This record gives sequence, structure tokens and C-alpha cells, in this order.
Amino acid sequence: MIIILKPGISRKQENAVTSEIRKRGYRPHIMRGVARTVIGAIGDELTHQSLETLAMLFPQVVESITPVQKRYKLISREAHPENSTVKVGAHFIGGKKLHVMAGPCSVESEKQLLKTAHAVKAAGATVLRGGAFKPRTSPYEFQGLGERALKLLAKARKETGLAVITELLSENHAELVAEYADILQIGARNSQNFQLLIAAAKTGKPILLKRGLSMKIEEWLLAGEYVLSNENCSLMFCERGIRTFETYTRNTLDLSTIPIIKKESHCPIVIDPSQGAGRADLVKAMCRGAVAMGADALLIEVHPEPAKAWSDGTQQVSLEVFAELMRELRPLILASGRE
Ligand code: PEP
Ligand code: MN
Repeated sequence: MIIILKPGISRKQENAVTSEIRKRGYRPHIMRGVARTVIGAIGDELTHQSLETLAMLFPQVVESITPVQKRYKLISREAHPENSTVKVGAHFIGGKKLHVMAGPCSVESEKQLLKTAHAVKAAGATVLRGGAFKPRTSPYEFQGLGERALKLLAKARKETGLAVITELLSENHAELVAEYADILQIGARNSQNFQLLIAAAKTGKPILLKRGLSMKIEEWLLAGEYVLSNENCSLMFCERGIRTFETYTRNTLDLSTIPIIKKESHCPIVIDPSQGAGRADLVKAMCRGAVAMGADALLIEVHPEPAKAWSDGTQQVSLEVFAELMRELRPLILASGRE
């Protein structure tokens, strides 16, 4: 922590602050300038009592307090300088291969899911997505087929060899969903539901943590810290757009998160262009941008008949458009040094 004192502070007032700093377990390093004094408090802010309240204790003396240490630990690049990879079946997400997770927003029927699964597999996807428990804004909208959808996802995995990702909506379903899924998705609306994050972590399954609708990157990293600090290192971040003033798109896809997450943490970053803009016509362009910027994987909504989808119809691409997209991405993936 850097503590800046107000101008014209007496030695006695300064001593009162430094002795409080010592009392809280830190070593004060005093730098006396011409106008004011700056104190560097040396110690581990994560294990000691915070110094943030010093300004409340000494309102006449302390001008400002600035932390120098990050609030996240296990997730940070400092803790783990190498990129970490997440093992999903035989795949490693975050490695050389850029993975594509694709499938419908919601599992609607056996026919819809299997048709989509075979098509996305043929086009080169390695993971099948499909919502079983859906976090819908209105309680009157389709809520998902629940366990029936999980069973269909398992059937699709058996037929195609694709790994399965599906959303975990409630702590009560942690064991059930973990029984069927290869990756647990924590949705945007639940990204700071810490008890859910802990329950998901404890299943030991890989976790894909979406960014919340209005979530700062630091909050997102700290939410990820809940997973790692509960003995689960298989975490991926997923940017899916944030809420802004813009109305041309459903959300504003923040591609700056790719280099930022890579700089701050060692975990893979996945881009979801489907929730990202809410528009099927923008999916291809946003995938190109994500690949060029170094995303480790894409999460794309694909439906055999988007116009008839039970959820998120406007943003799902058809099987044909998905196959085209995969063909078009190929040279870009290779050019960006991935497979
Ligand atoms: C989804 O993937 O269908 C979904 C609901 O995602 P998000 O949590 O990002 O809105
Ligand atoms: Mn969706």
C-alpha cells in the first residue's frame, strides 16, 4: 500500500500513522518529500488486516491510500507464468489448437440436438453446447428441458464423440449436471453467485465462467479466484458481451478482454459472439476478430432452423452458415499460429 500524507503534517502525527501500520503487521518505509510524506507499507495485504481504513482513523493526516498488490492471487500470471490448459476428454483448451464449442442455445428435441451435433462435428467443432436449464429473463419463457436435455446431450456425445458443455444454474443441480457434462458453464447472470461457483468447483469438472452483464474485469478475475481457491484449476473465462448504451447489438462484445485476461491470468479465454451481439449476421466477423486477437476457443450458437428456435433465435447461425464459418476461419487460425 502507498499511503500519502497531507501537507504540513507533524512528526508526531506521522508517528501515529506508522505505529498503526506496524500494529497491523506491515513495515512502514517513509519517504519525506519537500511538500509531503509518502509511506510505503510493506507486507502481504492478502494475509494482514487491510490498511484501507487508515484514512478513517486519521482523517486529518492521511490524504490517500493506493494498493499496489492485486486482489487476486491463484488466477494471476504472477502465480503461474505459463499458460494453463484445461483438459476436456482428450482435448486441451488453451493449447495450440483453437477449439470451437457449438450447438443450440437450448436443447429442444432429440432430432434437433443430434442433427446439430453431427453437423458441428463434421464442420470441425470439438465440444457440443446446449442449454438444459435456461436462465430466462421472463419466467414465462422456455426454461429448458432439464434432465431430459442432459440425457440427450449424453446421447449426442456417445454418437459423435463431442465433449459436452451445459449451464449449471443452481447449486442444487451441481451433482446432476456434473454427471452428464464435460464442462460446466456458469452463465452471465450467475457469474458472481459465489456459492454456485464453489459448488461448481467442488464437482472437479472444468468450468467456463461467463462475464457478467455489467462485470468489471477485476470482478471477473476475482470470481474465477473462487474456483481456483476451491481446488479446481480447470477454469476458462468466457467473454459474451457487456451491457452498454448501444442498441444496434444486444450486448457489446469486448474483445479487449482477450489480451487483458491473457496478461493478468494464465487461464484460457473463450469468446461467445452469439450472446456477444445477439445477431447472427455479425457472428462470422466477430469470430474472425476473436481468432486474430488470440482467443483460445469460440462458443457459437448453432441451430438447424434458427427462425424456429425456442430461445435466442436471432443470434443462432444455421448448420450451413456454421460450416461456411469454419471453412473461412481455417486460414486465419493457421495464420495466427494455432491449429
Ligand atoms: C447461453 O449461453 O445460452 C447463455 C444464456 O449465456 P449467457 O449466460 O452468456 O447469457
Ligand atoms: Mn443463448
